[in-house]
Amino acid sequence: MNDVLPDVVNVWQFLEQAAREVFAVYGFTEIRTPVLEKTELFCRSIGETTDIVEKEMYTFADKSGHSMTLRPEGTAPVMRSFIQNRLAARDPVTKLCYIGPMFRYERPQKGRYRQFHQIGAEAIGVEDPRIDAQILLMLHHFFTRIGISAVSLEINSLGCPVCRPDYRGQLIQYLEELLEPLCAECQRRYQTNPLRVLDCKVEACRLATADAPAMIDHLCGDCDQHFSQVRHYLDLLNVPYVVNARMVRGLDYYVRTTFELVTDQLGSQNAVAAGGRYDGLIESLGGPALPGIGFAIGLERLVLMLDKDADRTLLPELFIAALGSEAVEKAFVLMSKLQAQGVHAEMDFHGKSLKAQMRRADKLGAVHTLIIGDEELRSGQAQLKKMADGSQVSVHLDSLLKTLRPKI
Ligand code: ATP
Ligand code: MG
Repeated sequence: MNDVLPDVVNVWQFLEQAAREVFAVYGFTEIRTPVLEKTELFCRSIGETTDIVEKEMYTFADKSGHSMTLRPEGTAPVMRSFIQNRLAARDPVTKLCYIGPMFRYERPQKGRYRQFHQIGAEAIGVEDPRIDAQILLMLHHFFTRIGISAVSLEINSLGCPVCRPDYRGQLIQYLEELLEPLCAECQRRYQTNPLRVLDCKVEACRLATADAPAMIDHLCGDCDQHFSQVRHYLDLLNVPYVVNARMVRGLDYYVRTTFELVTDQLGSQNAVAAGGRYDGLIESLGGPALPGIGFAIGLERLVLMLDKDADRTLLPELFIAALGSEAVEKAFVLMSKLQAQGVHAEMDFHGKSLKAQMRRADKLGAVHTLIIGDEELRSGQAQLKKMADGSQVSVHLDSLLKTLRPKI
């Protein structure tokens, strides 16, 4: 368990601020739950045969003999609170986020600690694949906002109670034939948790199961349709991803869309965020039959990826430079509209020359710039320039937000 010392706390604050800012744009509000819950909550939700429940929980009996556990993850406590406080009665869609410490009794190593911190988000009440795409867009937006681009989004579908049991049976049969080369852990768990074998990091297990049947080839019609819609919307929103048919998650409650954000910069602890759909979880905990989807980002791993000495003020996403009073007025209205929609935009208020305006954009570290002059006013079109690489795209001034949103 680590102390966060004064010389690195600015990185933590930067990450927390960025998350609050980005998540608010998508309508997520914070929920704070206790770090301690009844043990039973985690056994019932995460699953008895998972690594977390089998070996990683900090569990103890309190003075009245109740079995209590320091939360190993955030989703189950949030669902417990959602049910207990009847949040479903307030709105058909509930969007919650949290930031806080989690506890797992693991072997400590780089990127893996016994107290660690997660920023997470949960969208409850919507089965539509557009919400899956929104969740992934928000995750993508957050990473762009904090300046980490060395991550890749991997997605998969784990099916549902209609199609998974059949597939699971086939996988067990397949694994039975090739038990010998598998590691001891996989030989032990292939019957209770066969999907975990696909996810095993041991090289011999990877090689032996290279041709194992994949869930995405055995989805029922509804799950297949859902997964292809998720991909369709991700394409539409310009969110880059790859399908990883071997990805399974270490928690039993996941169905359908699951995903991980991985990096090659952290050695073997390569996942910086992970999540998925958990339709059925709320009902199984005694709540209404509502679907849900969410993710958790591991903060320690992000801190390892960020340079602690870099300037961590959040940079404006757009600087609008304008020439001529009509253009200045247009720029002012555009900037204000974007701000109202949650985009950090800036412009000049001192009647400076174009050159001086561009110098200021540079100094502020604006991610994009846009110049509006007579020509742009006439055509309604302008060049949106990405400062990092100088690349430009032509945009309609009146649909700027649409062009900008997938980029930030
Ligand atoms: P891993 O495969 O690395 O063990 P996991 O599947 O157990 O991850 P999740 O339960 O999905 O992790 O948690 C989401 C994120 O929380 C992970 O992607 C990771 O960034 C972070 N995380 C999980 N466990 C730890 C830990 N012990 N120390 C630091 N960060 C962690
Ligand atoms: Mg783990």
